[in-house]
Amino acid sequence: MNYNKKTVKDIDVKGKKVLLRCDFNVPQDKADGHITDDKRIRAALPTIQYLLDQGAAVIACSHLGKPEPDFDKWAKKQAEKGKDPASLTREKWEKSLEALCMKPVAERLGELLGKTVILAADVVGPDAQAKAAALKPGEVMLLQNTRFEKGETKNDPELARAMASMAEVYVSDAFGAVHRAHASTAGVAAYLPAVSGFLIEKELEIMGGALADPKRPLVAILGGSKVSSKIGVINHLLDIADTIIIGGGMAYTFAKAQGGSVGTSLLESDWLDYCNEMIAKAKEKGVKLLLPVDTLCAKEFSAEAEPVLHDTMAIPGDMMGMDIGPKTIEAFSAAIQGAGTVIWNGPMGVFEFANFAGGTRAIAQALAGTDAITIIGGGDSAAAVAQMGFADKMTHISTGGGASLEFLEGKELPGVACLLDQ
Ligand code: ADP
Ligand code: MG
Repeated sequence: MNYNKKTVKDIDVKGKKVLLRCDFNVPQDKADGHITDDKRIRAALPTIQYLLDQGAAVIACSHLGKPEPDFDKWAKKQAEKGKDPASLTREKWEKSLEALCMKPVAERLGELLGKTVILAADVVGPDAQAKAAALKPGEVMLLQNTRFEKGETKNDPELARAMASMAEVYVSDAFGAVHRAHASTAGVAAYLPAVSGFLIEKELEIMGGALADPKRPLVAILGGSKVSSKIGVINHLLDIADTIIIGGGMAYTFAKAQGGSVGTSLLESDWLDYCNEMIAKAKEKGVKLLLPVDTLCAKEFSAEAEPVLHDTMAIPGDMMGMDIGPKTIEAFSAAIQGAGTVIWNGPMGVFEFANFAGGTRAIAQALAGTDAITIIGGGDSAAAVAQMGFADKMTHISTGGGASLEFLEGKELPGVACLLDQ
């Protein structure tokens, strides 16, 4: 995939209307709807400010949550969740949509920009069209939740065309949504010159650079809970990395595949053969594969459980692996010391429990201490690094969980592929 895409700097936006796809999918308080973390809104500011400084009028858009724009489908889904069919009224459905209205986002964005953000009542309806037509250079408006339109997730060309008709240039800065081929993330690029904003530019430059032409040795650290969710990543990184480190819950399926006893640890029996194939592929390709040798175990999956150290290949029948042990930390850290680039996806243990956060913390510390290019991809890994206070020590923390995973799988990202090549 070509990661070398045109950016806002390569296109003249002066006096033009720019449709800007952002990732404003922010967490909200269930009770009153207030935004509990505005990180994603802040992340979009440099691109918005740049466009305004250049004399553009900005028509921002984003999805928020998972509204169901089709009443019948909504009712069906609710019924499947066990809700009383009598309670599934149109009124209730409209309330569910209202809860995902962009109003709090427009307000927060306005506060951060220090100017009014005009909120459209619809996505491509009469209100949006009228407000877009009247929008002047230096002004910002926000369309309603793109997923209020049935055509959004279907990448309906009519919806994409209607969105495009309000603007003259399309800028995508929603890295968190580039793995989806939706009308606002990809379809619209068929009708307008399409370039990236600064967020996507940085993701492509650093992550794309690390995958296409890494400073070697390239060390990939993979963890998290399941082998099955990381198959594509392991497979792709085996083609390009010099060393692959496996930790987290997925390590026990590897250990079992190699003849170990893993007790009650997370185990995906369907993937044992796959693990052995990956071990063989590593040998064949000359990729060093490091697996945990010792493991902090627990009798039950709980924050209070007492950690007990065992060899990873000999975990007692009544215990489960919860984190990597000290010998493993030493071996993994040594591999990280010698790296030119480190890509990390997936925590080394159940870092949500203080007793089993040590392995993840030690690896974050090792990354913080190297001169290597350090890249964190994956929602939980990024959260762990931030929570442990190492965020500013990393070269790059990807802003997209699912998108960064697909990036690491070497998959084509529709929201990137649709942008103009350099
Ligand atoms: P990411 O979001 O960074 O891609 P994943 O979603 O794959 O990471 O995995 C994160 C989860 O993996 C965390 O919630 C963590 O508790 C869990 N995990 C890590 N190690 C273990 C383990 N040994 N047993 C069970 N769960 C684990
Ligand atoms: Mg995750």
